[in-house]
Amino acid sequence: MSNGSAPVWVLAEEQDGIVPEVCLELLGKAKELGDLLGASVEVVLLGDISEDQLMKLYHAGATIVYKVFYPGFDKFQTEILAEVISSLVREHQPQIMLIGSTFLGRELAPLLAAKLNTGLTAHCLDLILDDRGILEQWIPAYGGLISITCPDERPQIATIARGVFPAPKPDASLTGKQVSVSPPDNDKSKVKTLEIIQIDPEGVPLEEAQTVVAGGAGAGSLEGWKDIENLAEVLNAALGSTRPVVDEGWIDLETMIGQSGKMVHPDLYIGVGLSGEQQHMVGIAGAKVMVAINNDPDSPIFQQVDLGIVEDCREFIPIFINKLKENKG
Ligand SMILES: Cc1cc2nc3c(=O)[nH]c(=O)nc-3n(C[C@H](O)[C@H](O)[C@H](O)COP(=O)(O)OP(=O)(O)OC[C@H]3O[C@@H](n4cnc5c(N)ncnc54)[C@H](O)[C@@H]3O)c2cc1C
Repeated sequence: MSNGSAPVWVLAEEQDGIVPEVCLELLGKAKELGDLLGASVEVVLLGDISEDQLMKLYHAGATIVYKVFYPGFDKFQTEILAEVISSLVREHQPQIMLIGSTFLGRELAPLLAAKLNTGLTAHCLDLILDDRGILEQWIPAYGGLISITCPDERPQIATIARGVFPAPKPDASLTGKQVSVSPPDNDKSKVKTLEIIQIDPEGVPLEEAQTVVAGGAGAGSLEGWKDIENLAEVLNAALGSTRPVVDEGWIDLETMIGQSGKMVHPDLYIGVGLSGEQQHMVGIAGAKVMVAINNDPDSPIFQQVDLGIVEDCREFIPIFINKLKENKG
C-alpha cells in the first residue's frame, strides 16, 4: 500500500558548485508522483550550493532541502554519508527515494538499500504509480520492459540516468526551506581524499551531441576501434560505445550508451559493429535518424534503424573516412 502523504525524496548532490541536471529531472518526476500521492517533495542535498542553485531546487518542487554539509564533509566518504542519510530516512520515513545514476548516486544507492533493508531498482527507464500507489519501476529485461515493485519495505529506491525524464519548467512561485542536518556522530572513515584530479572530458559531451558515432564488439581489436574513433572525429561527433568495448578496455565507461550508461538524443546516430541489444538501444531512443554498419545482414540492429549498411566495418570505415575527407577538402 502507498504510505499516503509520506514524502517523496530526491537525493541531490553538488558537482563543481552546481546541482547536476539529472537531480532536477528527478525532482520533476518526484513532483509528478508527489502530486498524485498527495505527498510533498523533499531533497537531501549532499554538499554546499549557492542561493541561486538552491532556488532551482525549490522552483522544481522541493519544499524542504535537508543539507548535509559539515566541517570535514567529504563526498567520497560514502559509508559516512550512507549512515547520515539512513538516519534521516528513519526519522522522516519517505515512501520513495529517487537517486541520479551519477558516480556518487550509484555508490550510495545500494549502501542505503542495504542499511535500510529495502529494495533498489537500478537504471530505471520509467516510474509509474499503480492503483495502490505503489511505484512500478520499469527496466529493460527479457527482451522487453518489466516493472519491479517493492510493496512492503520503504523507501522504494530507484536510480535513474540523466535524460530519462525531462527537466521540469521552473516555477518561480514555488518556495521551500533549508534544514541543516547534524554532522555524523562517527566521522571515522576508511576513505580519505588526498587529492582530486579533474580530468577534462574530451570532445563533445555525449548527452548534448548532435551526431553520435557508437562502436561495438564488431570493431574486433583496438586497431579496429581506432578507425571508429577516427570516424567520430571526422564527423565532429561524440564517441559512444557498448559494454563489450568497455570490457575490452578500448575506451572508458563514460562513453557507454544504454541502460547502465548514457542516454543520448542526437539528430544522427551511427552504430558500427554492434548488434542492437536492448540494453544499448534504450540509450538511443531519443535519436532522430539511426544508421547501422554491420557485416551480418540478419543482425537485429537492422530492424531498428532507418538506414542499414551491410559491410565489414574494418574495410568500410577507412574508405568512408577518406571519402568524407575528400568531400570536406
Ligand atoms: C543489466 C545489463 C545492463 C547492460 N547495460 C548495457 C548498457 O548500458 N550498454 C550496452 O551497450 N550494453 C549493456 N549491456 C550489455 C548488452 O546486453 C549487450 O551485451 C551489448 O550491448 C552488446 O554489445 P555489442 O553490440 O557491441 O556486441 P555484440 O552483441 O557481440 O555484437 C557485435 C556485432 O558486431 C557485428 N560485427 C562483427 N564483426 C563485424 C565487422 N567486421 N564489421 C561489422 N560488424 C561486425 C556482429 O554481426 C554483431 O552484430 C547490459 C547487459 C545487462 C545484463
